[in-house]
Amino acid sequence: MAKKDYYEILGVSKSDTKDAIKKAYKKLALKYHPDKAPKNKKTEYEEKFKEMSEAYTVLTDDKKRSQYDSMGQDAFNQGYSQENFSREEDISNIFKDLFGNSFFGGSQGDSFRTTGDDLQYELIIDFKEAAFGCEKKIEIRKDILCDSCDGTGAKDKKLDTCDKCNGEGRITINRRTPFGIFRQVAICDKCNGEGKIPKQKCKHCDGRGVINKKQKLTVNIPQGIDNNQFLKIRGEGNAIKGGENGNLLLVIRVKPHKVFKRDGDDIYINFPISFSQAALGCKISIPTLSGDTKIKIASGTESNTVFRLKGEGVKNVNNYRTGDQFVNIKVETPKSLNRKQKKLFEELAKLEK
Ligand SMILES: [Zn+2]
Ligand SMILES: [Zn+2]
Repeated sequence: MAKKDYYEILGVSKSDTKDAIKKAYKKLALKYHPDKAPKNKKTEYEEKFKEMSEAYTVLTDDKKRSQYDSMGQDAFNQGYSQENFSREEDISNIFKDLFGNSFFGGSQGDSFRTTGDDLQYELIIDFKEAAFGCEKKIEIRKDILCDSCDGTGAKDKKLDTCDKCNGEGRITINRRTPFGIFRQVAICDKCNGEGKIPKQKCKHCDGRGVINKKQKLTVNIPQGIDNNQFLKIRGEGNAIKGGENGNLLLVIRVKPHKVFKRDGDDIYINFPISFSQAALGCKISIPTLSGDTKIKIASGTESNTVFRLKGEGVKNVNNYRTGDQFVNIKVETPKSLNRKQKKLFEELAKLEK
């Protein structure tokens, strides 16, 4: 493929702002959207559309743009356009950004459904709770449906048909833009898309249909979760009138352990042995997550010798892999010797000569 000049493709200049680039792209996207192509020009339109969408993603991303400015297309030659870009999804996401959901005949079902806010909660758990999984009781403040109006927001649940949208829940707006007038379907702002409005507001929730309350919740923490990972609990976020609950995002913080250190699924520990144990060899009892296990230390073992205990790490949270435990032997040089020890070492020293 020939080298492409993203600026040229969008008809903008290097000094143009992000807004100007967006505008230029919008204009071209309307012109070359594959849905609008005449039959004999479908491929041509598609190619053009792909090209400019690629240019758009690069030039509206500050990091990518500066990479492109300094290195040109080479910066993205690693299959950027093929792999990361040509997917329909990306293009339709750009469109959602630019034009909103309902533009090119976006599906009506989904786009009109409202969703409550997602909530975030930080949950601190112990090292072993993370390694083995656990059940936690938490208390969060969130919007729940008002029980005195069943979430309708109406006193005695009595509702009228919305007069702004005639109960449709949506209204059509004519939007004037530099490229012409667009008809856009939008959610009715009077009834929030529900098509109904309360005869009288519910006093308990002031018509909101939800009240903010502390709620107790039991959550299952999966085995193998690690520090700073998120756990998404569907439907446990804020409720909203006439819509779906948001989600609850648990941010997991794992307390450090005195003995065990964790890196991914593997566990690391340092284990001290004495000078004579190292010289003579011995059997030692090593702590693992699942209990103590014995390992044999050969005579003459040096400090920083690492033993690997297969499968004694953490079960991966996403698959069936289990990590290992690495035991780093630290030979400790005796620091304060009693008289007898000193004498023995002196005799040893003589022999060494
Ligand atoms: Zn209420
Ligand atoms: Zn309405």
